[in-house]
Amino acid sequence: MQRPNFSLDGKVAVITGASRGIGSAVAAALAQSGAAVALLGRDARALAATADALAAAGCRAQYFCADVADVASIEAAFEQVERSLGHIDILINNAGIEQVCASLDVTEALWDRIVGTNLKGAFFAAQAAGRRMPSGGSIVNICSLTSEVGIAGAAPYGASKSGLAGLTRALATEWAARGIRVNGIGPGYFRTALTESFYRNEQWQRTMLPKIPLQRFGRLEDLGGAAVFLCSDAAAYITGQVLYVDGGLLAAL
Ligand code: NDP
Repeated sequence: MQRPNFSLDGKVAVITGASRGIGSAVAAALAQSGAAVALLGRDARALAATADALAAAGCRAQYFCADVADVASIEAAFEQVERSLGHIDILINNAGIEQVCASLDVTEALWDRIVGTNLKGAFFAAQAAGRRMPSGGSIVNICSLTSEVGIAGAAPYGASKSGLAGLTRALATEWAARGIRVNGIGPGYFRTALTESFYRNEQWQRTMLPKIPLQRFGRLEDLGGAAVFLCSDAAAYITGQVLYVDGGLLAAL
């Protein structure tokens, strides 16, 4: 009997939004599992600090500046990654933003900023990666509970993340013949810059915590295993799925 192969040895992985939070935690998990990681984001200083920390732990990590809301910037970054590291095996589409806003107050600029980063950015990063995956690969889109349920004050964000789940299924179907698997991870609540304002609200914490069957908020390291699994040969027959890493919250809503 063969043991499942979770190793990412020899693989090249691109992670967008890797300067902090979920992106940097997932990058660390992939790198510790053997991948050479390319960290993408807008803030060179923060990316350099993440890359240095990974290198100090014996991992292969380089960073490349890119704004995923700008298609030309994505293409330029992927060209640099290919020149430095060769063809790409893994893409984690993680870069994302949110700004809570009542729907009656959402401006065109806010809609374009959120949907342009979270959905359009993810599509064009997948396209740039897909063009550089000659021998197949794995793409993981970081979705959200709002890929499945409505949350008040999060219409553009929810639309972008529901769209991302749809994009996951469409690309999985279209690119299966090219050996590219496309899946998603839907994190529950993890304390990062994006969610800090919720966590600062003790009332929010008191209301949310009892709804989570596993009775705690997520820890960044909870996401690494799911990402490594979906990118590895152990998940060779899994495509078009979103795996929720949420302590059971979605199942209980
Ligand atoms: P953070 O704000 O901590 O990190 C977001 C990352 O995305 C940063 O590295 C940021 O870097 C990068 N980023 C933002 N805009 C762009 C852009 N235009 N181009 C390139 N990089 C960009 O948030 P999280 O770690 O929490 O979020 C990561 C992902 O996880 C997002 O897609 C989010 O929607 C999703 N998510 C998070 C949850 C949570 O509980 N935290 C729950 C569900 C989903 P920089 O600004 O320096 O470029």
